[in-house]
Amino acid sequence: MSEQVRDLPRRERLGWRLMGITLMLACAIGMVLNIGQILFDSRSQSAEIDHSVQRLLAVMREPATEAVYNIDDRLARRVLDGVLRFEGVLAAELVVGDSEVLARDKREPIASPFRFVTAALFGDRRDYRIELKAESGETVGSLRLQLDTYPPGRAFLARAGVVLALGMLNAGLLALLLLTVFHYFLTRPLVRMVEGLSSFDPNMPESIRLDVPAGHERDELGLWARSVNDLLTAIRENLARQREAETRASWLEHFDTLTGLANRTLLLANTTHAMTGATQDGEQVPPLAIVIVDIREFRDINAQYGVEYGDQVLREVAHRLNFIATGSTVLTARLAEDAFAFLMSGAHVRERADKLAKRLNIAFEAALGVGPNLLNLGIDIGIAVYPEDADSADQLIQNAERALSYAKKHQLTDAQFYQAEHDKELQLRKRLVRDLRVAPQRDQIHLHYQPLVGAQNGQVVAVEVLARWTHPELGNIAPVEFVPLAESSGQIVALGEWLLRRACQDAAMWRRVCPSPPRVAVNVSPMQLRERGFDLIVASALADAGLPASLLELEITETALIENIEQAIGILQRLRESGVRISIDDFGTGLASLSYLKRLPIDQLKIDISFIRDVLRDPSDAQIVKAIINLGHSLDLEVVAEGVEELAQRDLLASNGCDLMQGYLFAAPMDTAAFMNYLQRQSSARSVVVPISGGRSSV
Ligand code: C2E
Ligand code: CA
Ligand code: CA
Repeated sequence: MSEQVRDLPRRERLGWRLMGITLMLACAIGMVLNIGQILFDSRSQSAEIDHSVQRLLAVMREPATEAVYNIDDRLARRVLDGVLRFEGVLAAELVVGDSEVLARDKREPIASPFRFVTAALFGDRRDYRIELKAESGETVGSLRLQLDTYPPGRAFLARAGVVLALGMLNAGLLALLLLTVFHYFLTRPLVRMVEGLSSFDPNMPESIRLDVPAGHERDELGLWARSVNDLLTAIRENLARQREAETRASWLEHFDTLTGLANRTLLLANTTHAMTGATQDGEQVPPLAIVIVDIREFRDINAQYGVEYGDQVLREVAHRLNFIATGSTVLTARLAEDAFAFLMSGAHVRERADKLAKRLNIAFEAALGVGPNLLNLGIDIGIAVYPEDADSADQLIQNAERALSYAKKHQLTDAQFYQAEHDKELQLRKRLVRDLRVAPQRDQIHLHYQPLVGAQNGQVVAVEVLARWTHPELGNIAPVEFVPLAESSGQIVALGEWLLRRACQDAAMWRRVCPSPPRVAVNVSPMQLRERGFDLIVASALADAGLPASLLELEITETALIENIEQAIGILQRLRESGVRISIDDFGTGLASLSYLKRLPIDQLKIDISFIRDVLRDPSDAQIVKAIINLGHSLDLEVVAEGVEELAQRDLLASNGCDLMQGYLFAAPMDTAAFMNYLQRQSSARSVVVPISGGRSSV
């Protein structure tokens, strides 16, 4: 802006314009005043001219009268010479009587360009005449002269000129003085402030503060400078606020608010940068690795202790991860709810990633103290390496996630490196999850039925409902495949309710064909149990089907119960009060302690299939089975053995007091038609009764 000041044409500058105006005004006023003065002076000058001519005539009167009286030519000529010697007299004559000219003389007027001025002021010529009288008083003649006003006016003109010139000079000096004053008091401080402002960088408003020009603290310039400073302060504050907001927005865009770690966006950006930055610089791209860590039980923690506590756990986990991050870790990020990632770079990154994974596994073997609890968190780890596993950052992260999913799915405790073959499996999983969502409506989910028979009399006491999925393209998919998928995708809640309602309807139908119908046993996923109002869903399913609660049995796995004991006790209590029976499935795998078992409101233990499988060959399995039967009975529970395939197994179990048995030996799971036939055969052979010994059956 200071250049702009210098580049201003002179006539546009304030100082010069002020000077011009002042000069013009001063000159005009000076001119008017001076001319007035001159005009005023000219009047007295005019009178002065008359006066001096009168004096001349008075001096000449006597000799002139004598010359006329005596008609003396010589005297007359001398008189006229005397008159003409007077400056400005153009012509003079002595007249005898009225008109007889005694002597006459004249002179040429002086030529001058200023003559018009004197002519204007005093008139061009002036005529004078005096009567010449004898001593007797008689008029004898006259003396006449003509005066050119220029010669006597010339001096006046010169004086007036000087006066005018001085007046103008005065005005000029005044203007110059004013220019200086304006310059020092206005233009210069203004220019300085403008220059000060011109160094103002709008992006760095703190860079400037206008100095109040010295001596102007209390005038308008000072006021102006202060106002500008106030304005700058306001701009500064505004900008600071804006910057703060921008920084915050950018932070939010790139960081996770909960843990303070980078978020997925920043991880992606940094990975991309690491890949492309080096290429642009002509350097070789360093090998990269993405290591993703996922907390296994996080959903359970959230469900059990609440979201706030879950957040606290995540913060602690982030803290621990940050601590473990090694020198080759470029960035630690939080990818999703309970998934974290490390971006690593440098030579031998694969080995380093593997090492990091091992360190992580060791670190998470130690319990994590969060609030009042010590949590044993399990982790799954997936790793993908660049450039082997991906071309882009996005793909690299995705492939690490795929490796993680693989580890989760196969419950692998070691970190999994991405392998292309795993991808196909994951694609299939994704497809199944998608297809499963619509499977019940498309009539692809069917119920199969497997009886539980009395160990002593072989009569059908209960029927377990087992889900089957017939995929239109992939054919039959076993529940061990799709149930975990439904659990991990959260679909099990809806699917489980659907299965429960179907099972209740079926059981209600059995009552119509069977005088003493079997109970229906429905498998319940831990997730269903955790859903609020599960007891109400059960009640509604029973009511809708018109099935008495005593004919419904819920199979809940031991592990699901132990993980969530307090909540489980409450809901099981309510279910059991409504008359529904509770069975612990896969018993023996979850290491439930006796104290737990005592507290749980249950009716039945279902020994896990793995113990039955080898019960004949493995003495320790046989011991365990016997112990479970005794334990169950001591707690007044009914004991079931599942997976009984051989007669010898049946005999061993029966001789040890096992109450019920289930397995291929008696019947494999059947579809509806086969099961209806089976049920009718059973009923016609004998009426189906329920003679359970030692159980706490509410039937
Ligand atoms: P589970 O509840 O322990 O069910 C018993 C499994 O053992 C069934 O497999 C059954 O077909 C099988 N089985 C029965 N008798 C024998 C035998 O003598 N020998 C052998 N080797 N196996 C036998 P399935 O139907 O494949 O079901 C597997 C698992 O899928 C079930 O284990 C259960 O955890 C789950 N599942 C099945 N249907 C449902 C359901 O409707 N809801 C839920 N939440 N889970 C279900
Ligand atoms: Ca079961
Ligand atoms: Ca089981």
